[in-house]
Parts: sequence; C-alpha cells; structure tokens
Amino acid sequence: MACKNCLPALLLIFISCAPSTSRTEYALGTKCSVTLFTPFKESVYRDIFARVREIDNLMSVNVSSSDVSRINKAAGVDRVKVNKDTFTVIKRAVFYSEISGGAFDPSVGPLVSLWGIGSEKERVPSQEEIEKTLPLINWRDIELDEEKRSVFLKRKGMALDLGAIAKGYAANEAAAIIKEAGIKRAIIDFGGNIVTLGEKKTGTPWKVGIQNPNKRRGDYFGIIQLNTAEKQTIVTSGAYERFFEKDGTHYHHILSTVTGYPVKNGILSVTVIHSDSTHADAISTSLFALGFEKGLDLLDFFPGTEAVFVFEDNSVRVTPGVNFKITDKTFSIK
Ligand code: ADP
Ligand code: MG
Repeated sequence: MACKNCLPALLLIFISCAPSTSRTEYALGTKCSVTLFTPFKESVYRDIFARVREIDNLMSVNVSSSDVSRINKAAGVDRVKVNKDTFTVIKRAVFYSEISGGAFDPSVGPLVSLWGIGSEKERVPSQEEIEKTLPLINWRDIELDEEKRSVFLKRKGMALDLGAIAKGYAANEAAAIIKEAGIKRAIIDFGGNIVTLGEKKTGTPWKVGIQNPNKRRGDYFGIIQLNTAEKQTIVTSGAYERFFEKDGTHYHHILSTVTGYPVKNGILSVTVIHSDSTHADAISTSLFALGFEKGLDLLDFFPGTEAVFVFEDNSVRVTPGVNFKITDKTFSIK
C-alpha cells in the first residue's frame, strides 16, 4: 500500500570503504532494500526477494489468495489450513498479544480497515462505527491447531492483520538467506525494520540515526551505535510513519484495542534493538501501544531487549543497554 505520509523511521549512517551493492524492491507494503558487501552473488538477491514476495503473498491482506485473506474470509465459519510461515507468525503474534495484555493484537484487522490509514479510504470513523467494531477485536478468539496447522477466527467479521510483525519476520528470513550464502556483512532495511549482519568494517559497529519526528525525512535527532554482534536488528514504530490529518488532529496507524482510536499516550516513536527482528517488530508496536510505564514492565520479561522512547515534548528515554547519543539539542534524555 503506497502511503503519502510515510517517513522512514531509521536511517543508516552508511560510511563504509568496503565495496557494496544494493537492491530495492517494493514489497510488504513498503520499500525493501538489501545491501550486500563483497563477496556476493547476484543470485542471492533473487533468492532474498523471492522469499520476501512469498511471505508477502502469504500474509498480506491486500492479496486475495493469501493465507491471511483466506482466514479472514472464513471467519466464524471454517478453520483454514495455512503455510508453515503463516502459522509461525500468527502463533508468535498471539504470544505478544498475551504478554502485552492485548495492547498488541493481530485481530485488529476490522479497526485497521475502518480507519484505512495510509490508504485512499482513510477517514475518521464515527463513534458508533468504532463501538460496533471493537467487540470483533480479541486475540483470544484466534484458534490455532498446531497439528492440523489451521487457524480459525471464531466470530464472523473478525480479521487478522499482521502488519506489526510480518516485516520483522521477512527481515529475519532475508538474513538467514544471506548467512547461508556465506556473506558476512549486509544490511537489510524493510521499511525501517533494519537488520545488520557483521560490522561496518572490522571493529567498527554500525550507527543508525533515529528520524526526528518533527522534521523532514532524513533528519535524525540522535544516533544509536549498535554493538559488534554478528546479527542485530533495530525497529521503530512511529506515530509519524503512517498517518493523516483531519481538522488539525493527527491520526496515526497504531490503534488502541481499548478505545478504537490511534494510541494517544505522549509517545511519538519507540525503537527496539535486539537480535531477532520478529521480536523487535512485535515489541516496538507493543511498547508503543502499552505506553512507557507498562512498556517498561513488559521489557522486564525480556532482558537483552533495549528500547529508545521519544515523547511529544522532545524528551527521550533510553534503556540502560543502548549506546545512544543525541545530535539535535532540542531533544533531551530524561
Ligand atoms: P510499521 O508497519 O509502520 O513498521 P508497526 O510495526 O508498529 O509499524 O505496525 C503498525 C501496523 O500494525 C499498522 O499499520 C496495522 O496494520 C497494525 N496494527 C495497528 N494497531 C495494532 C495493534 N494494536 N496491534 C497489532 N497490530 C496493530
Ligand atoms: Mg511492529
């Protein structure tokens, strides 16, 4: 889905002497880029993008033959056998629903459709429409049968939307292909879901800028220095990534499963750093939806998962394991 009001949330600060090549394709509703540092083979790009398209074709609500579309069409009627990838992602999405107390919820589909944020049909729905839609959102009504590998939405009108987790899964899969091909250094950037493999150059970790929520695209306000782990991922959920404005109000794409409106808790963006991109994608959306205090409680369950929260008043909060530096003095760390 093309989006007129989208900003990339993360910007790689790319200064490397090593020769590299890049490929960019449009998939998963966003721009997907892969940069490989030599030695590389052309066929690796083909394999990566074939895999990304495969995941898109399984999990997109915009592809009518996708597993997710089939599950949604059969809501309240039938269980649907799905591909292994789809089952894995839905199972993980349900896990994050449970641990976030439903703030993260892949059954948010009917609300996403109602608002249509980022699509041609975006609009502010009436309170009545929201109240009619909210009862359809409940991850507990997603029935998973591990043996049959089937998914059943218990009530008619329910719909899955894996937009908050599928890009992370795809980025992990791309990383696996690159590793398998014996390539030691690479950057994957699927719409701001970044995975780095290896170091920038020997002994030099990657640096990633976080988009300034108040500025044009490409302006960052601070830099995260990643450590030198073999694989790292950095994922942002931002109120400015997909949104529209109506009568002076800003409506963004992360929706509260309680109010039915875009989440409003003072957070502008949450960036998560970890080694697993599926985890980071789901956690960044979960933290955004939960808010800062409850978000910190959630992070207690996941030692090694680090986060940078940016608030509407330009204050920034950073978990202790992040190497973060402010570059724009209008922001300050609390
Ligand atoms: P992005 O897709 O911009 O990287 P996120 O990973 O945070 O951002 O995912 C936001 C998307 O997830 C929305 O566009 C929508 O499809 C879906 N979504 C919205 N609200 C929720 C929610 N509370 N729980 C799970 N998914 C959500
Ligand atoms: Mg996410």
